Amino acid sequence: MLNDLRSIVQEVYAATDLSSVLEIIVRRVKSAMNTEVCSVYLRNETGAYTLMATDGLNREAVGRVTLAKNEGLVGLVAAREEPINLDDAESHPKYQYFAETGEERFSAFLGTPIIHQRQVMGVLVVQQAAKRRFDEGEEAFLITMSAQLAGVIAHAEATGTLRAMGSKSAVRFNGVPGASGVAIGECVVVSPVADLNAVPYATCDNIEEELAFFSRSLAAVREDVKRLGQSLENLLNKEERVLFDAYLGMLDDTSLAREVTEKISMGLAAPYAWSEVILDHVKTFSAMPDAYLRERASDVRDLGSRVLAYLQETTQKELVYPEKTILVGEDLTPSMLAEVPVGQLAGLVSVRGSSNSHIAILARSMGIPTIMGAVDLPFTKLNGREMVVDGYRGSVYIDPGEALLQSYQAILEEDLQLVAGLQSIKNLPCETSDHHRVALWVNTGLLADTMLSIERGAEGVGLYRTEVPFMLRDRFPSEEEQRLVYREQLEAFAPHPVTMRTLDVGGDKSLPYFPIEEENPFLGWRGIRVTLDHPEIFLGQVRAMLKASVGLDNLRIMLPMITNIAEVEIAQMLIHRAYDELLEEGYDVQMPPLGVMIEVPAAVYQAKELAARVDFISVGSNDLTQYLLAVDRNNPRVADLYHPLHPAVLRALRKIVKDAHSQGVPVSICGELAGEPAAALLLVAMGYDVLSMNATNLLKVKSVVRAVTLEQAETLLAEVMSLPDAESINRCLEAAFRHAGLNRMLRPDLGDDANI
Ligand code: PEP
Ligand code: MG
Repeated sequence: MLNDLRSIVQEVYAATDLSSVLEIIVRRVKSAMNTEVCSVYLRNETGAYTLMATDGLNREAVGRVTLAKNEGLVGLVAAREEPINLDDAESHPKYQYFAETGEERFSAFLGTPIIHQRQVMGVLVVQQAAKRRFDEGEEAFLITMSAQLAGVIAHAEATGTLRAMGSKSAVRFNGVPGASGVAIGECVVVSPVADLNAVPYATCDNIEEELAFFSRSLAAVREDVKRLGQSLENLLNKEERVLFDAYLGMLDDTSLAREVTEKISMGLAAPYAWSEVILDHVKTFSAMPDAYLRERASDVRDLGSRVLAYLQETTQKELVYPEKTILVGEDLTPSMLAEVPVGQLAGLVSVRGSSNSHIAILARSMGIPTIMGAVDLPFTKLNGREMVVDGYRGSVYIDPGEALLQSYQAILEEDLQLVAGLQSIKNLPCETSDHHRVALWVNTGLLADTMLSIERGAEGVGLYRTEVPFMLRDRFPSEEEQRLVYREQLEAFAPHPVTMRTLDVGGDKSLPYFPIEEENPFLGWRGIRVTLDHPEIFLGQVRAMLKASVGLDNLRIMLPMITNIAEVEIAQMLIHRAYDELLEEGYDVQMPPLGVMIEVPAAVYQAKELAARVDFISVGSNDLTQYLLAVDRNNPRVADLYHPLHPAVLRALRKIVKDAHSQGVPVSICGELAGEPAAALLLVAMGYDVLSMNATNLLKVKSVVRAVTLEQAETLLAEVMSLPDAESINRCLEAAFRHAGLNRMLRPDLGDDANI
């Protein structure tokens, strides 16, 4: 059974369009289960279920038999969202007869729902003439099949919709809101070099040149492989040498080259043509019953990537960024953002990641509307397409029609007016209407967000993510390179304080030149754990920070991911060592205030002990939320469980302030929560001294803080703390904001979904 399952899924993955996906499913499942009928019904736009493929029923019925939800047995499976297994279907009260299907001969019925992201998208049915109940094993097989196929069908459906789309209606894909706002622009698909699955669809202008370019690249890789094989000859055993011969064989294989040249001759660009052909071969090998041949799939993939790297080396550089670029990719990185010329980046769409992935945080700090986790988006096909990014709802629209464009243009302009209107409070203090003062700081990392922060009147930096400049390079920056970057940051804000966090890599922040491969990266080697294991990196960074602060003296140093006291003590010892060294070397450095981040539950319960040892505490609510709720901040599948306003998180946040204040130590919060206007009021009421946030939301937060008294904020907090879950807390906050006439600070009126 497992073999059947695997090989069906692999064959389905190899299919290029929805109808072939469905054809394979019905044919293979029918044969694997040895039944007389297998059919797939898919939900249409009206919410009813239409027969889309069958092996065993009359094929003429395909597309012509439709059942509403809860109509007939198929509708019942969809409505109940669970399998129905009957030995005598006809005797069931819901049974319906459709003459077109020729169905009267079949008594046994087993239907399972096909569910993707909690939505029933179809029903998979097997039938048999004999009056018999499908046994437990068969039922389990069909359930497994449906669960495995749901994602593939959703993806094929999405791609098909895109292809079939006319000019009249936009196609919508959903993801997770990454940064609020609306963007209208043209897609530019970016991909890491040599990733066969992420090659953007592209055509070529000159077929002859493209063909010549392709054969030059093949020849170059052939030379490379030969050279590599020769230089390793003495180090390889016989089997390993065979691999090189096999690679050369594949490169000489005229049929492989012919398939690619055929595609290029039809106008496709060489990298795209090559990736299509190679992926096809990979799938064929993966589906082979013989284990040895199946293993060859990885050789084909490896060779495919080598050739692709050659093909892309020249073409990648030709990327043209339009005036309003919407950057689309499977997994966007800060360096991809940095490639876009200043002022031309309108929006971002990432297939992977979620609202608190670091790329989304960067986007928020730059004010770039962003969608994360758009898992069904056929992203490789989008180059040059017009797109609307709705960062409020978390949706994108491809090729929007005039009406849709107009509604979004109106929201975009309204947003701009709101921002312009808020400029009037830029230089006013952030205090409640009864003068309770809170410091409003920003989180930075890129030069672009530094400029925006200063424009918006930030009073300091609560978190400078030093890993960002590390991520934009191809090796660790030297001490002097770091000093220059840090100096720029400290100078930009002087005399205001700048809190520099020591390198926080790991989790979803990887350095291309220092890969960390782990099963469980968020519970692994990240933050302070990495830098304490590499004192040379830590010391170099601290020295660079201290040197950069000479004469400005506005530096604060902060340690990420602290889980125990020893980490603080060792880090303090190293910082003092760096300080003493610099004094000896003649630098006029001051010892900066030192703080720790509270980001893991253990630190919440040791807040007092930690506070007693440092000058300030700063809460990293992004990580704290993920660790308290056991929800990966980077995983779109569990994005709807990531609730920074979960009662457990709020209680932890309140406890930290109380414990830190009991030691006379000020507390700030630098997670994204601080920049949410509604949450900011709760944090003010809890007693947070500093709110540090993305520059984009700074003035919105200031305006809501200025609109209330401390007592009003405290009353709201008391009400919220009595509620049992995040949903009711969100509802309570929305109602309070509406009542106070502040709801525009949360989001614009987006109207009814159906209108769009
Ligand atoms: C946090 O975890 O809240 C935080 C500010 O750090 P980062 O988002 O960079 O992990
Ligand atoms: Mg963190």
